Amino acid sequence: MTEKRALIIEDDPDVAATLVDILCLDGFTVDSTESGSEGKAYADVGYYDLIVLDWGLPDTTGIEVLKHFREKNIDTPILMLTARSQDEDKESGLLGGADDYLTKPFSIKELRARIVALMRRRGSYAGFSLEFRHCKVDLKSREVTVDGKSVSLLPKEFSLLTMFLQNQNRVFSLDDLVNRLWDGEEGASYDAVRQCVKRLRKKVDIDGSPSIITTIVGVGYKIEKE
Ligand code: CA
Repeated sequence: MTEKRALIIEDDPDVAATLVDILCLDGFTVDSTESGSEGKAYADVGYYDLIVLDWGLPDTTGIEVLKHFREKNIDTPILMLTARSQDEDKESGLLGGADDYLTKPFSIKELRARIVALMRRRGSYAGFSLEFRHCKVDLKSREVTVDGKSVSLLPKEFSLLTMFLQNQNRVFSLDDLVNRLWDGEEGASYDAVRQCVKRLRKKVDIDGSPSIITTIVGVGYKIEKE
């Protein structure tokens, strides 16, 4: 899998931390800055697959940064973040060359949906596949095969598997998994996570071989890098 890189230009430390967390989990290598001029400098020298840009920055405006990127022919998809009060300005944000925008506060689910859509549009996910032992995941078609045979996963099972595969060796606690997979939806509980893992194991494990998902007793789960 080729490396995906993201640049975050956001001065709100909480929002920036959430963005870094989500993008890292989605397999991005992330650079983050709170300053517009530093953001420009990053993008001038580095190549990014995605840029998340805040509208209001301490040293300049997001729109000004956006213009700079487009003038430099940086064709990276740009997701702009705006505050509710700036709703009426969104049109100019889009005209200024942003590919999409998200109004703060946003949910993790909304954010991920926008990122996936932007990446798809760009084709960055084309041909992306994850592989682990006998299990293969095609991120574009969402097809999962075990020993070459197609298996059908429910959406949460699929999210769980790809999250584990993209973050091998990282231990996810039950809390992490409830927050990431359910994100405030009904039915979220530790038991729902356990059931989801159980169903996933049944579908992707091979009889007689150890499960691809390791249980860390009292903590959570991980996929152990081989
Ligand atoms: Ca801001």
